[in-house]
Amino acid sequence: MKIPFNKPWFTGKEIQNITSAASFGHISGNGLYTKKCQEFFEKKYGYRKTFLTSSCTDALEMATILMELKEGDEVIMPSYTFVSTTSPFILRGANILFADSMQNHPNIDLDHAESLITENTKVLMVMHYGGIAVDMDEAVAICRKHNIILLEDTAHAIDSFYKGRPLGSFGEFATCSFHETKNISSGEGGLLIINDDKYIKRAEIVWEKGTNRSAFSRGEVSKYEWVDVGASYTPSDMIAAFLYAQLKHIDDIHDTRISIWNRYHDNLANISKLGHFELISIPDYATNNGHVFYLITGDMAERDRLLSHLNNNMIQAVFHYLPLHSSPYFKHKYQGRPLINTDKFANRLIRLPLFYELPLDVVDIICGKIEEFYG
Ligand SMILES: *Cc1c(COP(=O)(O)O)cnc(C)c1O
Repeated sequence: MKIPFNKPWFTGKEIQNITSAASFGHISGNGLYTKKCQEFFEKKYGYRKTFLTSSCTDALEMATILMELKEGDEVIMPSYTFVSTTSPFILRGANILFADSMQNHPNIDLDHAESLITENTKVLMVMHYGGIAVDMDEAVAICRKHNIILLEDTAHAIDSFYKGRPLGSFGEFATCSFHETKNISSGEGGLLIINDDKYIKRAEIVWEKGTNRSAFSRGEVSKYEWVDVGASYTPSDMIAAFLYAQLKHIDDIHDTRISIWNRYHDNLANISKLGHFELISIPDYATNNGHVFYLITGDMAERDRLLSHLNNNMIQAVFHYLPLHSSPYFKHKYQGRPLINTDKFANRLIRLPLFYELPLDVVDIICGKIEEFYG
């Protein structure tokens, strides 16, 4: 039997919630379960205001509208991330400046990011790779000093913290994903987090197709009409009902993922010490939410050999992002310096299977196969 890289896990309550949403007779957006999910995030993590969206990509698109990004505005972001992080900005005509990863972690190198800032820079985006925090004291300080907007892509980083404070609570904006591959999932789904009051009123309108429907349903205005630009960013309440079942289990899901992560780490730390590959250490300021477990091989050829070895043993291990700065779409537009750390992680990083139902003895078997490869 093949050990998959990922396998979605269902709590068992999802269908019951969907049935209950249907029985209320309101299954379009912004229904009871949408409100429950948003309240969950606002209460548990102290986010100022949240909006459930159809995807993290949609949440990012909403953010680019709210920050009134114009053609020629510059946005600084890591190259080692998913394409969705970039495309909403490209759609608004922004210039993307890609920063390198740190030498010892895929997260953005903030010194390099700061060196890219010009008078046209409007946004710094950070992405907490594998749920491990970027140094947020530094990121916040850079944004204050240069008066630019901080956006956190927390697609990997739900329920993860920096110095005890939840990720997603630092930026003016943050965006989360509930795609099937993420820790908490509704198949597709996302969340826009807004921590700066001045964007909230308009967000409600942009979220609901440019209408004042939210204010109308609260009885604050007498007519439901078109008042601004917008799009259809609200997921069906059935999606929210599904998601809410998952959110109720967030502690259990994370405890389990972290125990799998720790088992990998305990098993592989000794082999790693022999100098075959690197494991990434977690900084003191950050917590781990068990989103990914990965190792860094000596070079790309070794990575490919190890991947084949694992795949031949029915273990689906995978590499991760291809750098955005050298992607087919962007490479002719990229004017910056080589991003050597980004390339290193693109060429040498391997992710191992990690999902809720992965038994610890199977983790031991996977680690045994890695040991065999290096033995
Ligand atoms: C998954 C992911 C996204 C996109 O999420 P969707 O919900 O599929 O739009 C964006 N950024 C990062 C870092 C991701 O991992």
